[in-house]
Order: sequence, then structure tokens, then C-alpha cells
Amino acid sequence: MTNDETKLATLLTTPAAGHGTVTPPIVQTSLFTFEDYDGLVARMAGQSDAPIYTRVQNPTVAEFERLMAQAEGGEAAIGFASGMGAIAAAILAFVQPGQRIACVEHVYADTYRLLERMVRPMGIDIDYHPIGAFEDQPDLLKGYALAYLESPNSLVMQVMDLQRVAGYALRHGVVTMTDNSWATPVFQRPFTLGIDLVLHSASKYIGGHSDTVAGVVIGSAAHIARIRDLTLPLLGAKLAPFEAFLLTRSLRTLHLRMERHQATADHFLDRLRQEPLVHRIHSPGPDAVPGLTGRAGLMSLEFDPGVDIPRFCNALRIFRLGVSWGGFESLALPAQASLSQAGQHNSMQRFGVSPHLLRLSLGLEDPEDLWRDFHQALQQGIA
Ligand SMILES: *Cc1c(COP(=O)(O)O)cnc(C)c1O
Repeated sequence: MTNDETKLATLLTTPAAGHGTVTPPIVQTSLFTFEDYDGLVARMAGQSDAPIYTRVQNPTVAEFERLMAQAEGGEAAIGFASGMGAIAAAILAFVQPGQRIACVEHVYADTYRLLERMVRPMGIDIDYHPIGAFEDQPDLLKGYALAYLESPNSLVMQVMDLQRVAGYALRHGVVTMTDNSWATPVFQRPFTLGIDLVLHSASKYIGGHSDTVAGVVIGSAAHIARIRDLTLPLLGAKLAPFEAFLLTRSLRTLHLRMERHQATADHFLDRLRQEPLVHRIHSPGPDAVPGLTGRAGLMSLEFDPGVDIPRFCNALRIFRLGVSWGGFESLALPAQASLSQAGQHNSMQRFGVSPHLLRLSLGLEDPEDLWRDFHQALQQGIA
């Protein structure tokens, strides 16, 4: 049995690999043509799976999809132009008007907006449940078509026992999907725990270099075939060959990067726990829940109300201020900035988030340099 890290570093399955290239070629074409009439007819009849048009399939994209399916322990995968492209295509492939979705509270802000602004008006009902209810109530999912999960989520980092919830869902015939962007397959493989579909914003740790917006969904051959037949071609949020190339490049170092993110997160945790101005820390790690084997670099904390958050933010020198996360660079994001955001369907307002909450995406810089930066900014925040 080859180790996962070795597989990600070496797997190449395209014919072009036979030319001795160690990276997949970027097949920059919209179209694939046929030798003769019979070849065209055979493809149209589904007797071959030769690529025909890049909106539907492309060899460079297929290479990334094979790697992701293998990394998550799934049977098949589809790359998308963004995490939201993947999430929308997955949800819409498995619910119909009149059906109901059970969703976790504190779901990613734009997934919440998708559900409220587009899915609900289609006549699909959505209920939000506290994350603990999914594992404590075996019959919670009764009557739902779909359970939309995140564990850990990306703001308050709450976790659930995905294997147990998958078991309850199976009993009630409910399709399950979970956003695995935080853990990545390095720290959690939900498909192997019984979850039907695993989603990623590949813009975060999978890409890891803050240069790509992309998404991916992984699952059984049958579930993935449904998305490939229905929502991938008809909504059209396909992954571009060049982006797929960048993502395959990134997967080679995913294990290394996650190990470093974890080491830095551990370094921070040790120090944050001794910091009287930090009241709560949200940073699940190995053993927080069955199936989770590591601690990612995305964490949040709640400051003492005496800390002036704008002043703290302006004092940061290495940490930059910004949304997104999972890249090489460390980022800070104060909840205040989004809590006060006007406009429809603010998930932070709906589910309740402390105005003293700060999210940190710990990057690949030296851990002690990062801690010194955080600490000096905190001193300025109370000065
Ligand atoms: C960023 C993010 C998404 C959306 O992904 P995009 O690639 O930005 O479309 C979905 N889920 C989580 C948890 C995210 O952080």
C-alpha cells in the first residue's frame, strides 16, 4: 500500500505522462474533434468517454479530479470554477421543489445566501439546526431530502461526529454533503466516514497559494455522475485547464503545508491559552471528534471587551487584513467588520457571533515571528 503522500506526489494517469513529463500538460482547448463519422456517433451514443467539449470534460481538469477523488477516498470528483460553483451544483442536483434541506447553523456566509436568496424561492424549505442536534437527535433528519453540513465550520469552528450523522441520514434516506475546506483530506476524509458528497473551496488550502479560485466535489460514481449529467453542464461553472494545473501542482505539497499550519496553530494555542485578554479560542484539533486527525491553521478567538479591535488590526505588521484563508500568508479578520455589514441575509447576525471575535488564518511564516506580531498588536490594542 502506497502512502497517501506518495500518491499525491507521483500520481499521473494521462497518456501524456508517457512522454516523461512529471506534470500534466495544460490542454488549452475548448473543443475535441473526431476522426470520422463513426467516432462522433459512438461518442454521442455514450460508447466512449473521449473528451468532446471543455465545459463537460478536459484532460487537465480530469487529472486534478482523479487526484482529489483518490485523496478523499472517493470514487470520482468534479472540479468547478469556484467553491460556490461546486456547492450550488451539488445542492441543486439533489433537491426539488417541495423538498426540505437540514443545514448546520454558522454555515459559510455565501452558502447561507445561496440557500435563502435562491433555493428557498424555488419552493425548497431550509431549516437550520445547531451542530450538536445532528448527532444528539437520531431522528432529526426524518423527512428531509438533504443534510448540508460543515465540520469544522470556518468561523466558530464547531465540529460534529460525521460518521454518526451519516449513519442517521442513511436510516432516513437523506443525502449528506459536507464542506471539508477546513480539514482537507489530510486531516479528515468524510467520504470514508459515510458522507455522500465532500465539497471544497479549493481556493483555500487545496490551492494554498492565494492565486486560484476553484472548487471540487467528491463522492460515489453514481452521485458524481448525477452532477456531471445535470448541474455541471447546465449551470456551466466548469474548472479551467490552467486552474486545474495550478491545483494539481498545489496538491503535491498539501501534506507539508498542513503539517506546518498545524505546528504554527499548536504554537499559537500554547501561548493564547496563557493570554488573559483572550477569553475563548475556537481551534478544534485531533480527537475533538472521531475522524478528525489534525488542527488546521484557521482558528478564531474572542478578545476581552477591553481590546480595541480596530487599533489591534492597524498595529499588525505581518498579518494582513482580509477575507479568504488557507494561503501561505497569515490573515486576520475581525467579525465586527462583517457583523455591521448591512444588506440581506447576514448569517453572522442570524446565528449570533461575538463582536469581539477575531479569525486568524495562520500561514507558512515563522511561527514565532507571527506570535510576536500578534502579541505586539495586542499590546497596542489596550494601550
Ligand atoms: C471560501 C469558502 C467557500 C466558497 O468558496 P469560493 O471558492 O470562494 O467560491 C465555501 N466554503 C467555505 C468554508 C469557504 O471558506
